[in-house]
Amino acid sequence: MNRKPLVAGNWKMNGVAASLAELELIAARAGNLPAVEIALCPPATLVAAAAARAAGSALRIGGQDCHAKASGAHTGDLSAEMRADAGASLVIVGHSERRADHGEGDAAVAAKAAAAHRAGLTAIICVGETEAERDQGQTLDIIGRQLAGSLPAGTTAANSVIAYEPVWAIGTGRTPTEAEIVEVHGFIRARLAAQLGADVAAGLRLLYGGSVKPSNAGTILKLADVDGALVGGASLKADDFWPIAAAAGSAGPGLSGP
Ligand code: PEP
Repeated sequence: MNRKPLVAGNWKMNGVAASLAELELIAARAGNLPAVEIALCPPATLVAAAAARAAGSALRIGGQDCHAKASGAHTGDLSAEMRADAGASLVIVGHSERRADHGEGDAAVAAKAAAAHRAGLTAIICVGETEAERDQGQTLDIIGRQLAGSLPAGTTAANSVIAYEPVWAIGTGRTPTEAEIVEVHGFIRARLAAQLGADVAAGLRLLYGGSVKPSNAGTILKLADVDGALVGGASLKADDFWPIAAAAGSAGPGLSGP
């Protein structure tokens, strides 16, 4: 099964209008890597402007969360339909920072992913264990439970991407060993086959996320069952993000590259 790698950047609560200059540098080059899908997820305040700057390029724009409902009395929230209306074509759901900061459990994540599908967005559904859970040998149990609870009915390779993000690796500079990443990604693929069927599982892209940077992207992105990366801190600057995207296409790093 041919899975086109996806390298998606999550700006989190970072970025103002001037930051779109970085996004424009990526948009200008995204077409040079036709074998890689590249996306950036700026904060909600910038999605419409980002989509306008990326128009006509191969760069996809995404949101970082969405409400399960399409509209209604939910002050401060944004629906998947609003994300799409602003120009997003994908949305991250179930990021560990949302799970921890907003108490979002698997059922809420599944409802958000279903909302993304309803609105025609690709849902990037995040799973990952905490450091305590890994230390207690619970990693695969936790991931299995999150997969069982966070994927809505109707999940397909066309409307969803799974991101494995060990919580302890996010923003810490630490990453699992290559063997640990391969173990978890292989486990996820097998679980998806049991849950969704072999064909869907074979087509679903599995991203690794957690302290991916230019210096480790080449190694991580060539591991078995790693179909791209979800990148936080290193997505804020084009000089850092571009070599990661290029590594997914096995191209040379650096903004002066392809
Ligand atoms: C993330 O939050 O999705 C992430 C992977 O962050 P970082 O790359 O900064 O570890």
